[in-house]
Amino acid sequence: MATSRNIILFPYLAQGHLIPFLDLARLLEQHTHHQFPSISITLLSTPVNIQNLHPLLPSTSKIHLHSLPFDPTAHGLPPHVENTDSCPSPSHLAKVSVASRSLQPQFEEFITDQLRTDPNLKLYLITDVFVCWTVPIAKKLSIPHVVFTTCGALGTAAYMSLWLHLPHRQTDEEYFPVPGFPDSFRLHRSQMSYANRIADETAYKFLNGQIRLSLQSDLMICNTVKEIEPLGLKVLHNVTGISMIYTIGPLVPLGEEKSYQRAGKKLGINREACLQWLDMQAKHSVIYICFGSQNTITVGHMLALAEGLESSRIPFVWVIRPPIGAEKYEAGEIDEFDEKQQMQKWLPQGFIERMTGTKQGLLVWRWAPQLEILTHKSTGAFLSHCGWNSVLESLSRGVPLIGWPLGAEQFFNAKMLEEELGVLVEINRGIECELESREVERVVKEVINGEKGKEMRSKASVCKEIIKNAMANGDSGEKGSSLRSLHDLVDFFMKH
Ligand code: UDP
Repeated sequence: MATSRNIILFPYLAQGHLIPFLDLARLLEQHTHHQFPSISITLLSTPVNIQNLHPLLPSTSKIHLHSLPFDPTAHGLPPHVENTDSCPSPSHLAKVSVASRSLQPQFEEFITDQLRTDPNLKLYLITDVFVCWTVPIAKKLSIPHVVFTTCGALGTAAYMSLWLHLPHRQTDEEYFPVPGFPDSFRLHRSQMSYANRIADETAYKFLNGQIRLSLQSDLMICNTVKEIEPLGLKVLHNVTGISMIYTIGPLVPLGEEKSYQRAGKKLGINREACLQWLDMQAKHSVIYICFGSQNTITVGHMLALAEGLESSRIPFVWVIRPPIGAEKYEAGEIDEFDEKQQMQKWLPQGFIERMTGTKQGLLVWRWAPQLEILTHKSTGAFLSHCGWNSVLESLSRGVPLIGWPLGAEQFFNAKMLEEELGVLVEINRGIECELESREVERVVKEVINGEKGKEMRSKASVCKEIIKNAMANGDSGEKGSSLRSLHDLVDFFMKH
């Protein structure tokens, strides 16, 4: 009887993880479809996430989306909150991590059921770093396990190293070395996430535990491009000790895909109206501001940002999310109908009126068509929290960044982009640092109109080419590095 093979993908419960996992599923489907028809692909998650992913796949897709039973209320989460991006407040984020571990019995049952139903079936697991409780299950059932980091190489390595060697928090040094990194690479205390610095016990238990288990995986795949992150790959090998690390990035559509089709979110602005507004602007003149799918800043930050932008006279598109502390709003206790009124409370008096209908500012509520904005010729820079998807989306469009890392590995991404690639300047760091409106004005002018901006844009264009080549089938049939790694990954599955 012929052997059938099933690659099972299992992301963490966060938008920034589900999106690259779905992209990876699509890529694997594309690459195995003709050559290896015996391979099928399944993506597992919880019911609400699976329901949201369904419309993102074309009807012709053979990818199976399967939901594992899950009750958010059993973990102190409101009903239907199965993803960090729908958490009513930042305090719920940790509950999602704990809840994600509770999926273990359902996950194991799904796997064993599959094996029981078809004894000739070969299974392969690709799971997120944050759900590496799957590694012992894979070992027990002799299933090859691949750990997928949706982040960049350097960011992953520094993040893992810090959580594995947490006593760093006790250092009094302003700058400190990172185990696994060259001694010349130093982090500043402000580049540790809040959870790292306060050594939050829940975060420690969860992250340290999952990262430790991930080191026992058979292979690691990383959402980056080899040529962009030479230092990152070196330190990732050092920190993890995993000998096989394949770079398969960027898992970002390089064509004209529509971002709302990619993320399945309701846009806070009419897509055409947004693009028409950009059409009115000069080439590379607009700053796009967005802090990803789950981070927000404080009201004080919002006021300074708004004042600085307004006085700079540089045009901007700004994705507004309720600031830290606006939990009532996030909990849905305030009608979305009142959104404008609420927004007014977080912005300088008359700011919304002064921007409405003008060429200077476009305010977008919660969710923007990010890929389209970054692809538009008017966009000159991206003021970003440096989440890895945003970074790849920006670089793949040749757009330089203004960095404001807020958490997780974003601080290390910003450092790498500034020091290794020269495509970023940092404007602020974390949620505790104050922001001066004069500094906002200075930085945005420098990046859009100044020499520094020109230099960053030219380096970002080089990155764009490298990224394109990594995923390209060359004229002479030679494949780009990420495409080769993808083939190596499929080979790995076929050999096991
Ligand atoms: N995103 C978007 N529109 C928004 C905000 C976010 O399309 O208004 C998408 C963005 O394109 C990216 C993802 O959400 O693909 C955010 O991922 P990232 O890794 O940048 O940040 P995270 O949300 O994980 O912190």
